[in-house]
Amino acid sequence: MINLKGKMLLQVLLAVFVFAGVEADAAQELKQTKFNVDVIVIGSGAAGLSAAIEAKAHGASTAIVEKLPTVGGNSISALGSFAAVGSRIQKERGLHASPEAFYLSFFRHEERPGTVRPELVKRLVAESGRALDWLNDMGAGLTEVAPAFGTNEYREFYSNESIGAGAEIVKELLRQAENDDIPIFTSVRAEEIVLDSRGRVTGINAVKGDGTEIEVNARAVVIATGGYAAAHDILARFNPVFGETMTSNCPGSTGDGLIMLDALGAQLVDIGKVQFHPTISPIINSMIPESVRNLGGMLVDSEGRRFVNETADSDEIARVMYTSGVYKKPMFLIFDRKIADEVLGLEPTFNAGTYFTANDLESLARLIKVPYKNLRRSIAEIQNNKADGTVDGFGRSSFESNLNHYPVFAVKIRPAMHYTPGGVLIDDQARVLTPFHEPVYGLYAAGEVTGGINGSRRKGNTSLTEAVVFGRIAGINAADFVEKHPDGIDNLELNFLPKNENFGFLSHSDVER
Ligand code: ADP
Repeated sequence: MINLKGKMLLQVLLAVFVFAGVEADAAQELKQTKFNVDVIVIGSGAAGLSAAIEAKAHGASTAIVEKLPTVGGNSISALGSFAAVGSRIQKERGLHASPEAFYLSFFRHEERPGTVRPELVKRLVAESGRALDWLNDMGAGLTEVAPAFGTNEYREFYSNESIGAGAEIVKELLRQAENDDIPIFTSVRAEEIVLDSRGRVTGINAVKGDGTEIEVNARAVVIATGGYAAAHDILARFNPVFGETMTSNCPGSTGDGLIMLDALGAQLVDIGKVQFHPTISPIINSMIPESVRNLGGMLVDSEGRRFVNETADSDEIARVMYTSGVYKKPMFLIFDRKIADEVLGLEPTFNAGTYFTANDLESLARLIKVPYKNLRRSIAEIQNNKADGTVDGFGRSSFESNLNHYPVFAVKIRPAMHYTPGGVLIDDQARVLTPFHEPVYGLYAAGEVTGGINGSRRKGNTSLTEAVVFGRIAGINAADFVEKHPDGIDNLELNFLPKNENFGFLSHSDVER
């Protein structure tokens, strides 16, 4: 169904470049210090772009402010797929993809499930197919379908252009935003959501890269600022190790939306719960995809010894790296030509200095400075295992590769902070909620800035779906709100928590179980 080989190569290449975001035609420099718009959207990732496009389509004037000089946020580098059920493609091709199975996948048993709100998941599942159709109607090529890992549920949509689903989506959303004349003001950082003396949302205060203060008068605000996986200072409050960990995210993921919402007293959930990516090449800050491990890659420590089940879940691998202390010294991901061909299709020259390549194991050991006898023993361990369900000493049972196709490769890896599933609680209309679950009128949020969908960890390829589904809902409802309530609504009756200038979210997160 899918040419994974070509796809992976391009996805990996893409991962190298994407963190710089992209220059977009719709992006422009903000010349004035004050402007009026019906709906102001903060953030230019998949959630913000979807919100702005829908707000405009539903009759509201709209603009986006983006704090980075480039657009697309982390969304543009999302390598996975777009999970959806009930789409036209699934119907036309007669593909099995049950909404129930998709829904239940969000409630998989975990030690700490966190906040997973059934009404949000229900909305996400119900709108996912329509969101996919919307993107494809716009010109996106999310037409390659695969089953969700380990299931026969055909709900994972990939780009037919062999680029990451995130890049495919952002490309089309940007094109649409440009067609719709939606301005995207780059290098403009929103700092505060402004409410008047009656608690009505009246806009935002922002600041330009050169320090110029900006006032945006708006009748509704959509917060789509993403997560905080690049906010080392915030992360360090939860665990000093988190603060030191490198990030796979774009530099815009610093939790600004949460800080602004927290200052208002909105309900935040599951803050401080994080997800790691265990194999990032620190040299180019690129993710080495999970599939390298799943197809037989081996992880070794600075002594050339295995230390973990390489096919375990990413967080578990990162946990072992930290708790065993192996992360303090160089760690390597070892794979062979067969895996390279199958997964990455990469040439070792793809990024000189990142991959070590050798035609025999001894040379590889010398190159990465690990004892040859240890490396040989580790590989022998893999080779002795059979793909018959037998479990090895680390609990690994999948041995698709024997690591015996030369040349062999090694890449120095580190774990990185990858995803922050918690965030502000919204209702199924994408309205920001107070701790008493009352909607704040005129204030919407969508995408990774929100919590309540993934609990303490994301369950699959749902981040893009979540961003587009709730981005659209936020945009449509914001436009509707502006039309119905041109003077806003008094929010004074709401039970906000007292304003806390020291990020109250450290204290009032996780209240809901
Ligand atoms: P999502 O997937 O939820 O859309 P992304 O990470 O893709 O999230 O996009 C979020 C975008 O919001 C990033 O481009 C980031 O730079 C931008 N952003 C974050 N904080 C601010 C802020 N204070 N003002 C403007 N843009 C912001």
